[in-house]
Amino acid sequence: MPELPEVEVTRRGVAPHLEGQVVTGVTLRHTGLRWPFPAGLAQTLVGHTVRSTGRRGKYLLINFDHGTLIIHLGMSGHLRILPSDVLPKKHDHFDLQTGSQLLRLSDPRRFGAVLWHAAEDGSVENHLLLRTLGVEPLEAAFSAQWLYQQTRKRSSAIKQVLLAGDIVVGVGNIYASESLFQARINPKTPAHRIGLARYERLAEAIRQILAAAIEQGGSTLKDFIGVNGQSGYFQQNYFTYARAGEPCRICKTPIRQIIQGQRSTFYCPNCQK
Ligand SMILES: [Zn+2]
Repeated sequence: MPELPEVEVTRRGVAPHLEGQVVTGVTLRHTGLRWPFPAGLAQTLVGHTVRSTGRRGKYLLINFDHGTLIIHLGMSGHLRILPSDVLPKKHDHFDLQTGSQLLRLSDPRRFGAVLWHAAEDGSVENHLLLRTLGVEPLEAAFSAQWLYQQTRKRSSAIKQVLLAGDIVVGVGNIYASESLFQARINPKTPAHRIGLARYERLAEAIRQILAAAIEQGGSTLKDFIGVNGQSGYFQQNYFTYARAGEPCRICKTPIRQIIQGQRSTFYCPNCQK
């Protein structure tokens, strides 16, 4: 599943091809993905200029003067920039054409989304899908103090609190296990029992790990193809994730796998107290 780093890598890849370009066509080859495509999307977009791109959590934002196109990659989606005469393949459901190039969304499992938020409805931050999202982990609002304050009444395990996404976005299953390892926090620890000093380590770990993943072009690459079609990025060398039974890279204790909220968690029972 594309995680925050993959979406950010995608945004950075497509941005120079879209920003400042005028939309010349919209092609929809299905009635919708997770939700129906917006009615009259071609009419809404053709002739308008892409002003900027952005990202909120795992939502890619393509900003126009009169609104924002919101794209989510779902479980298996990817975006590419292609010459506009390249014929679509089976799962290519959406094209945004800008003259001789197009942005093409391919989404075999159709859990993705293409939505329109009109500027007259207010800031896109207030969109139903965006307004409950936590802070961005790589922006200044995210800090140890923030994690500490927001968890004083949260008695669930810290791993699940991170995954919930309402305090901080982008810490998916892989990154939660890895961040908690780096911060030396047991993933089962109730969030409200963790003090400021440990949250200092956790905030730093989250920032470092996500920034490194973006740097390397994302790390859950099974379903992700780079903007130019290649998937030549390399997997990160994980400390815990998918290493059940293998020796901890720090202390050699076998990495343990548990299930929390139906998701696998990996941790070192010796390093993470
Ligand atoms: Zn260890």
